[in-house]
Amino acid sequence: MNIILLGPPGAGKGTQARHLVETRGMVQLSTGDMLREAQASGSEMGEKVAEVIARGELVTDEIVIGLIREKIAEGAEGGFIFDGFPRTLAQADALTVLLSDMGQSLDAVVEMSVDDAALVARITGRSTCGDCGEVYHDETKPWPADGKCTNCGSTNIKRRADDNEDSLKTRLMEYYKKTSPLIGYYYAKGKLKKVDGLASIGDVQAAIAEILG
Ligand code: AMP
Repeated sequence: MNIILLGPPGAGKGTQARHLVETRGMVQLSTGDMLREAQASGSEMGEKVAEVIARGELVTDEIVIGLIREKIAEGAEGGFIFDGFPRTLAQADALTVLLSDMGQSLDAVVEMSVDDAALVARITGRSTCGDCGEVYHDETKPWPADGKCTNCGSTNIKRRADDNEDSLKTRLMEYYKKTSPLIGYYYAKGKLKKVDGLASIGDVQAAIAEILG
C-alpha cells in the first residue's frame, strides 16, 4: 500500500507516519527529513537549500523529485508513506510516473485538515528527539523533567530552525498557493480521504486505520 499524508505544516503528518511505520512496517519518505539530513551532512545540495528552508519557501521540484526517485527505487515491502511530498502539481505528476515505472500506484491520499490558529500554536511549541524522532510539545506533551526522551532515553532535544512565526507564515502561504491544489487533483482521481487533524492523536490514528483497512 502506498499513501500520501497531505496537510499543512503542523497537521500531524510526521506523528501519524511514525505510527504507521511502527504498526504496519511501512516506509516513511519525508522530503523535509531528507533535506534536513542533507543540510546536516554539509553536502553541496544541503548548503544550497538551507536558506530556502529557513525562509519557509519550497525547494525546487527537481531536487525533491530526485530525492524521492532514489528512495522509491530501493522499494518497500510494506509500502511507502509520502510525508511532505508531493507539494506541487509537478511533483504529484512525477510521483505517478515514478510509481508506475515500478509497477505500483497510489492507494490513498489522506488529507489532514487543521485550522490555521491551531497550526501556529502546534508548531511554535514543537520539539523532537534528535535520536528517535519522538515528537513533543511544550504545552500538550512537554519534554520529560528528567531531560530524557520517554521513547529512547536520549537527551538530544531538537527544535527546527524554521518552526518560528515568520517562517511559518511563509510555509502556510506556500501551502495554500502551491500544495492545496493537490486536494482537488487527488479528489478528481478518486483517491482523496479526509480526516480531522484536530482530533486526538489516537482518534486520527483510528481514522487512518479505517481508511487503510
Ligand atoms: P517539512 O519537514 O515537510 O515541513 O519540510 C521542511 C521544509 O523543507 C519545507 O518548508 C520546504 O522548504 C522543504 N521541503 C520539504 N518537502 C518539500 C517538497 N516536497 N517540495 C519542496 N520543498 C520541500
